[in-house]
Amino acid sequence: MSHTNYQAPDQNGFFGEHGGVYVAETLIPALQELAQAYQEAKQDPEFWAEFHRDLANYVGRPSPVYHAARLSEKLSGAQIWLKREDLNHTGAHKVNNTIGQALLAKRMGKKRVIAETGAGQHGVASATVAARFGMECHVYMGADDIQRQAPNVFRMKLLGANVVGVSSGSRTLKDAMNEAMREWVARVDDTFYIIGTAAGPAPYPEMVRDFQCVIGNEAKEQMQAAIGRQPDVAVACVGGGSNAIGLFYPYISETSVRLIGVEAGGHGVHTPDHAAPITSGAPIGVLHGFRSYLMQDENGQILGTHSVSAGLDYPGIGPEHSHLHDLKRVEYHAANDEAALQAFDLLCQYEGIIPALESSHALAWAVKHAPKMGKDQVILVNLSGRGDKDINTVAKLKNIEL
Ligand SMILES: *Cc1c(COP(=O)(O)O)cnc(C)c1O
Repeated sequence: MSHTNYQAPDQNGFFGEHGGVYVAETLIPALQELAQAYQEAKQDPEFWAEFHRDLANYVGRPSPVYHAARLSEKLSGAQIWLKREDLNHTGAHKVNNTIGQALLAKRMGKKRVIAETGAGQHGVASATVAARFGMECHVYMGADDIQRQAPNVFRMKLLGANVVGVSSGSRTLKDAMNEAMREWVARVDDTFYIIGTAAGPAPYPEMVRDFQCVIGNEAKEQMQAAIGRQPDVAVACVGGGSNAIGLFYPYISETSVRLIGVEAGGHGVHTPDHAAPITSGAPIGVLHGFRSYLMQDENGQILGTHSVSAGLDYPGIGPEHSHLHDLKRVEYHAANDEAALQAFDLLCQYEGIIPALESSHALAWAVKHAPKMGKDQVILVNLSGRGDKDINTVAKLKNIEL
């Protein structure tokens, strides 16, 4: 398939070999209802008009592109530009998706939303839109994560959400997602499940991508206006893959633009402590309702993951990324914890911007490669979120008492 007529997913929700619907039979009708509602909404200009009104007036879009001139000068190579998703209401790209899904829930007449969360960022974005649209909100969160992420738990409560602790399994994101799916089966009539990344069973990966494409669509117009052309490279961090696919998708047919996805290398992809399924050569497996590259042992048991950034700490990757890797349209690399922290410090000190630790992984690629590129070349980095949420983590790593 040529990249210029790239088209995915197919009717069954497959991106090449990846994706699909691998759920209990009881969920099939709910996913079919959702898929149909989304297909109808997708054709309806009024749905998108409302989406873009909220992105403008509530989220504060468009987010600017910004020339990080001092950082570029310091690295003495390619010009680094940032797509400023950190400036969105709630501090990251996640709200683009939760606004879209909440509007769809409203259209479907559902007054109750549920969500899973790991570090709490998607939980906060879901609680935010539930308050905005007057919906009841329940957020499933691993018991250990509730302990570790107290400020986000409090934020969700302030926003009126009910945070449900999940004590099964490893008491983290993976278990919270299982529990949210179980709850959805039980209350499918009045409940909408808001998934936080471009993963899960069809139609979620496509739907989340479509909502996040506002990032890439804006970037294309903004780069054209700012420098009269598109960047040589566009780079984004990849957890489940929503901010990355949102930037990449509009660029897939622009074959002169190199696309780079950066996974969490943790302590190194050759150690057991990372969250880099593609870069570490993980086999295909099934988790959370879809098929994709997945970190697992010989018996198919999901492996534990590690990353300094909670948002990238996931053993799988959205199916469209696995497909784009197979097609070789997107290159996947890993940045380890240390490189991400160095990039974090550089952006703080040279640009006055505190980036999210997730976004720092994308920056780390630019910091490593810009010096080898010409000064007339351009790297566009998706700055997926701001780092206020990460200051405690960074302080601990630097052995600083707050
Ligand atoms: C959640 C999060 C991510 C990772 O999620 P994706 O779906 O891979 O984009 C990246 N950056 C920030 C700031 C996040 O909050």
